[in-house]
Amino acid sequence: MVIATGAKQQVKIGPTQLLINNEWVEGVSGKRFETINPATGEVICDVAEAEASDIDRAVEAARKAFTTGDWTQMSATRRGELLYKLADLIEQNKEELARLETLDNGKPLNESLNVDLPLVISIYRYYAGWADKIQGKTIPINGPYFCYTRHEPVGVVGQIIPWNFPLVLQACKMAPALATGNTLILKPAEQTPLSALRIGELILEAGFPPGVVNILPGYGPTTGGAIARHMNIDKVTFTGSVEVGRLILEAAAHSNLKRVTYHLSGKSPNIIFADADIEQAVEGAHLALFFNQGQVCTAGSRVFVEEKCYDEFVEKSVERAKRRTVGDPFDPKTEQGPQIDKIQFDKVMRYIELGVREGAKLLCGGNQKGDRGYFIEPTVFADVQNHMKIAQEEIFGPVMSILKFRDINEVIEQANSTPYGLAAGVWTKDIIKAHTIANNVRAGTVWMNCYGVLNAAAPAGGFQQSGMGRELGEYGLQQYTEVKTVTMKL
Ligand code: ADP
Ligand code: MG
Repeated sequence: MVIATGAKQQVKIGPTQLLINNEWVEGVSGKRFETINPATGEVICDVAEAEASDIDRAVEAARKAFTTGDWTQMSATRRGELLYKLADLIEQNKEELARLETLDNGKPLNESLNVDLPLVISIYRYYAGWADKIQGKTIPINGPYFCYTRHEPVGVVGQIIPWNFPLVLQACKMAPALATGNTLILKPAEQTPLSALRIGELILEAGFPPGVVNILPGYGPTTGGAIARHMNIDKVTFTGSVEVGRLILEAAAHSNLKRVTYHLSGKSPNIIFADADIEQAVEGAHLALFFNQGQVCTAGSRVFVEEKCYDEFVEKSVERAKRRTVGDPFDPKTEQGPQIDKIQFDKVMRYIELGVREGAKLLCGGNQKGDRGYFIEPTVFADVQNHMKIAQEEIFGPVMSILKFRDINEVIEQANSTPYGLAAGVWTKDIIKAHTIANNVRAGTVWMNCYGVLNAAAPAGGFQQSGMGRELGEYGLQQYTEVKTVTMKL
C-alpha cells in the first residue's frame, strides 16, 4: 500500500502483521488496531494486535532459537556480519524508512532522514563490530587453579519501546542484544508500529535465523504486560515513563525475577552562565528543548540562567521560539511537527494552563497551532520557580521553562532537586565552572557547550528514578550478558 501525504510525499507502508519465527502472522485473536498520522489525525492503516497467547508463541520460538539450531551454532563473526548486512539494508532503504517514520510519528522528515536514520545505521554497525569481541578474563586466584570468566548471552529478552524515536530506540535495544547472542521479542509503541515492522522485513532479508527476532505490536497493559510477567523471558528492557517502569519492575518481581533494565523520564537542567557565548547558548538551549517537538527524555526542560545575562537570554530565546517553523513534517523547511497523539497534546496543554496558574510568565506560544492534527505553538515561560510543577514534572512537549540563578552553589542545589537524573547541560567559557557542574550534578550524561549529542559509542542512562543500566557504547553490552566464572584445579 502507498499513501500520499502532505508536501505530496508518497509513503510506502510495509508489513502490518506480527513477526514470529520469521513468519508474518495475524494475532490469535484476529484483532487489529489503528495507527494514526498525528499531522492530520487520520488513520494510516491497521496493524495486527498481539495478545498474551501471541507472546507465548513468540517466546517459544525465541527459546528454541536460543537453545537449538543455527543461532546457537553461529560464529560470533557471522553474527556480526548479519548485523552489518542489516545496517547496509537500512542504509539502502533509508529514505523509505525516514518517510514511514515521519508519517507514523509526525517528526520532520529532515530529522528522520538526517538525524535518526544515520544514528540507527551507526548503532547497528557499532554493535556489529562488537559481536566477535565479547570476551571474559583470566583471573589469577590463590592456589593451584585456573580461573576464567565467560560473558554469555542472557537468553530470551523482551524489549518494550516508546514512540518518540521508534527506529533509534529499536536499534539501541536490538543491536547489542543480537551482537551478544540473545534472542528477542520486541514490542513497538502502539502509536508507531510501522517502522519497526519494516525493519522486521529487512531482518528476514539479512538472513537472521527463525525465532531470533520477533516483533509484536500491541498495547501496553496487554502485550507489554504479557512480556513483563512472562515466566520464560530472562530479561526485560524498557524505555518509557516512570509509572510504567514501576509496573514492569513489579511484574518482574512477581513472576520469575527476570533481569530488568530501563530508561525513564527526566527533567534535565540546562545551566547557562553569563560568560557563555550567548548566541550559541540561546540556540543550544532552544534545540535542547524543542527538538523532536520536545518529546525527548533528555530534553533540557529546566533552563537555569545566571542573573547577569537573564534578561538578554530570555528576550533572545523568545525571539528564537517565535521564529520556529511549525507545520507539515514533510515540508523541508519545517522545524517542528505535531505531538504524537491527542493524549499527549492534551497533557501538554494542561501543563501550559498550569504554568499560567502557578504564576510563571508566558512570553510566547501557549496555543494549538492550526485546527488539524496535534500541533502546539512553541511556548516559553520565564520567571519559573523551581518548586512549580512545570519545573518539576516532565511535560514532554514544546514548552520551555526559564529560571534565574545567582551563584553556582545555588544552581547545583536546584539542578539536583528532582527525583530524576538523566542529563544536564552547562554553557560557560570557564572550565572550572564547567567541571564543577559536571562533577556535582546527579545525571547520567553531562553536555558542555552543546546538548543532545548522541553517539553509538557513548553510554546513556539515568541516575535515580531516570533509569537502571546504560545503553549504547561498551557499557551497553553489560545489559545483555551474564558473567560465568569457571575454576579448574591444576
Ligand atoms: P508514554 O507515556 O510516553 O507513551 P509509556 O511508558 O506509557 O510511555 O509507554 C512506553 C511503552 O511501554 C509503550 O510501548 C507502551 O505500550 C508500553 N507500556 C505501557 N504500559 C505498559 C504496561 N503496563 N506494561 C508493559 N508495557 C507497557
Ligand atoms: Mg502513528
